[in-house]
Amino acid sequence: MTVMLGVDLEGRDVLLVGGGAVAAKRLRRFLGEGARVRVVAPEVHGDIAALVAQGRVAWAARRFRGADLSGAWLVHVATGEARLDRRIAERCARRRILCINASDGAHGSTRLTAQAEIGDVTVAVTSTVGADPRRSVAVRDAIVELVAAGSLPLRRRRPGRIGRVDLVGGGPGPVDLMTVRARRLIAEADVLVIDRLGPAEEVVRGLDADVEVIDVGKLPGRHAVPQDEINRIIVARAAAGSRVVRLKGGDPFVFGRGGEEMQACLSAGIPVDVTPGISSAIAVPQSAGIPVTHRGTAAAFHVVNGHGDIGAATRAAMLDPTVTTIVLMGVAAIERLAATALDAGVPADRPVAFVESGHTDRQRTTHTTLGDAVADARRIGLRNPAVIVVGEVASARLLLPAVETVGADSA
Ligand code: SAH
Repeated sequence: MTVMLGVDLEGRDVLLVGGGAVAAKRLRRFLGEGARVRVVAPEVHGDIAALVAQGRVAWAARRFRGADLSGAWLVHVATGEARLDRRIAERCARRRILCINASDGAHGSTRLTAQAEIGDVTVAVTSTVGADPRRSVAVRDAIVELVAAGSLPLRRRRPGRIGRVDLVGGGPGPVDLMTVRARRLIAEADVLVIDRLGPAEEVVRGLDADVEVIDVGKLPGRHAVPQDEINRIIVARAAAGSRVVRLKGGDPFVFGRGGEEMQACLSAGIPVDVTPGISSAIAVPQSAGIPVTHRGTAAAFHVVNGHGDIGAATRAAMLDPTVTTIVLMGVAAIERLAATALDAGVPADRPVAFVESGHTDRQRTTHTTLGDAVADARRIGLRNPAVIVVGEVASARLLLPAVETVGADSA
């Protein structure tokens, strides 16, 4: 039987006896854990020599002596001589020093585990009957994959000393377009602050009943919670010790007011981090087969909030036939947008596409031109959320095989 202990090696003395390839690999792991490492071996592997040269490891270039064990918390033996390894392991046992014996099949008192850090949880796998490191690694990897599915119960049951806020990008809607990190942070959260965009609805359905969900989005008959109030909510919950996830559609830093929420946390001294998401600016055109850049057609893209002023930069972008202009929050502003573009001299036949509810089963794409955009928006009843794309890439035929027209006219 084995008891797995979470041993903190930070600043502790670890002795490696033997300096071959196995020792070199373990050495990196011990250094990564912050241990102070000594190596005793007549010769060492190139990786170890490099670390010695950098002053990160002390090396005694000779055979092992009993006195080397003094001060060690943990000894790793891999001399290449199984009998010597066993003798050193026995000596460690007598002196009550933990010992990993890396010789074939043999064990010292201690084994290394296959380990993964999943947020602030450590998962470690080992075998109780005979070492089987490849199996341990496979089991560990399978557990890590559960994080991607959001199905590990990672939420703290005992309140942490300090809370924190994560501003998490949820992507354009489907949960499988969220990042693994987003799913893990949500699984760890005590409080989830959501609005109506992105994957919020489906995410909430999968939560434990005692996770607090705060909806700050606009709902019919109710105004959105003002930004100041959102800032106040996330700061207050985190200050009370909760892990808060502020889940947003797309990416938090693309018209998501993530910057303001970050400032609010920083100025309140709350630990805060941002997890990027797939922005609708790119993913929604993509869902309609529109690449925002395309070799020979569009060499740059310009993303703008249609709700705000349509300034000189946006007019210049729309005028330039090699630039794709991507308008978010533009539904209510379509008339102003089209008029401004036409006034600026953008040709009326410049392709325009409306992509509504991209990446959802309500998705609808409409191809039109700048000249017809307003009439077509009215005709179809253009609705939020939608991305408006202006530029040659918005042409319906862009990615279709060229139609063979030779001879067709004469037929
Ligand atoms: N931070 C978000 C954008 C927030 S602004 C991101 O990076 O995606 C909100 C605007 O995003 C909407 O008005 C709409 O223009 C666009 N949008 C977000 N999700 C969308 C979707 N699934 N389909 C179409 N447009 C979407």
